[in-house]
Amino acid sequence: MKLAFGIGHKACRVIVFSFLALSLSAASLSAQTPGTDLLLLNAHVITMNDKQPSAQAVAIRGDRIVWVGNSDEGKKLYPSARAMDLHGATVLPGLIDAHTHLINLGESLVRLNLKDISSEKEIVERVKQRAASAAPGEWILGWGWDEGKWASNYPTNQALSAATPNNPVFLVGLHTFAAWANQRALELAGVNKDTKDPENGKILRDEKTGEPTGILLNHAQELVSKHIPQATLAQARRAMQLAARECVRNGLTSVHEAKVTPLMVQAFHALVREEQMPVRVYAMLDGADKNLVDEWLKRGPEIDPHHQLTIRSFKLFADGALGSRGAALLEPYSDAPQTKGVMTSPEADVYGLTRRALQARFQVCTHAIGDAANRSVLNAYEQAEKEVPDAHDPRLRIEHAQVLSPEDIPRFAKLGVIASMQPTHATSDMPWAEKRVGPERIKGAYAWRSVKDSGAHLPLSSDFPGETLNPFYGIYAAITRQDPQGNPPGGWHPKQKLTLEEALRGYTTEAAYAEFEETNKGAIEKGKLADLTVISQDITKTPPSETLSIRALKTFVGGKVVYDAATDQ
Ligand SMILES: [Zn+2]
Repeated sequence: MKLAFGIGHKACRVIVFSFLALSLSAASLSAQTPGTDLLLLNAHVITMNDKQPSAQAVAIRGDRIVWVGNSDEGKKLYPSARAMDLHGATVLPGLIDAHTHLINLGESLVRLNLKDISSEKEIVERVKQRAASAAPGEWILGWGWDEGKWASNYPTNQALSAATPNNPVFLVGLHTFAAWANQRALELAGVNKDTKDPENGKILRDEKTGEPTGILLNHAQELVSKHIPQATLAQARRAMQLAARECVRNGLTSVHEAKVTPLMVQAFHALVREEQMPVRVYAMLDGADKNLVDEWLKRGPEIDPHHQLTIRSFKLFADGALGSRGAALLEPYSDAPQTKGVMTSPEADVYGLTRRALQARFQVCTHAIGDAANRSVLNAYEQAEKEVPDAHDPRLRIEHAQVLSPEDIPRFAKLGVIASMQPTHATSDMPWAEKRVGPERIKGAYAWRSVKDSGAHLPLSSDFPGETLNPFYGIYAAITRQDPQGNPPGGWHPKQKLTLEEALRGYTTEAAYAEFEETNKGAIEKGKLADLTVISQDITKTPPSETLSIRALKTFVGGKVVYDAATDQ
């Protein structure tokens, strides 16, 4: 495996300074400035720039695109540039995933991965194997069992506790809205039949004995998770580095990290400083951490002139997930009439933080799944925007915007609220989503077409590691509304499909807009950062059903190849 890490901003700075010196001291010398560094030739360049939608060649100097055109002209204009023949390969603007969890992806690469395992027996066996090589009393941490699929028949801790009596075990669900703990973990946390459910959380209990079963929903997970020893800075760095490497392998050049803790801020800063971060990061600070919020509101946004790590937004959670019935709905769940789900942040809190954030020039990105949560966040944003009328370009975001009441859809465009949506959530949830919300409300669920047509900004993303980070799965889901096997035929609620161009915009220009970077990212044009994704097929000629097989061949960040399929093992 050969991966060139780091975007090399130090080198860029030197170039910038030397140009400045030239232009100040001897303007006439500017005609003799050194030649262009790199010239990509014989490519099929999809620029996402309406003025020049396609091209064959791209010239790059330092970390920027300086020219886009045809191959013959490029060779004439830049005879001394290092030429790279792309042999007809398709080039996209560097793909941006607008909602990710690098840290969880990294941890999943280190922790026990239980994704796609649907049998309790097999999970118990995997945990047992891991415990065999663990130190006495060491926590066994796992991740990825699908709490949405298991919701109607959750396991208990019996078999798990019998297999691993001495090590505490804590297995977080795929969507992080449920956890499965063994008896040892419950004991260490002091969780027993006398423990009350915390606010916005639920301890599942044995009907007869009242003892906890081991399944903890929403905030009840924290009763146990707070006893897990904190990751060290070194562990966090390692996790994020592993995850970042996966990103560039999948053709991603930027990610929007949704929920960043103080430890992660430290790890990101260190990785960037040491040029160990191949992907650009737009960080949303954890808005539930009051100290972190106070510190950053005082300090102000950190906008990186080198575009590697920008910190100017807060992430809030208005509710839970639809699968575990934690999403807050206006009316009861269709398949559980006793509940409407749970709001995890009241409207007043979202409003309060948004108001302070706008005054301090920060963006707010709030997780909202249910129609009640979405309405509440829109209300909070509307009020805050009204009360801070001089807020400069707020670009408030709702993350997921998953189930929307029809009357709320036009409010996104009206208020300038960005709908940050995940195509693969629809295709993962479609087997059970309609049971939860019924035939009427489902029309406003995962409704990208309606949101787009209302005029709202629509960045797209994966929300990895809950879903795959491969952006072509997201594009495929957006244009087909089918699972990877092609079901259902014609697509699920096919009226909501996006066109290929709209889906690509979601991963390029729209995602760039959502992070205030549309002048630097999202299109291949003169002056923009040289972030490019070279892919294995011409996506415009690939039948939608084959979009899934597209792979990244090369990933450029700031003019440097950070991933090359030809040399990656
Ligand atoms: Zn997320």
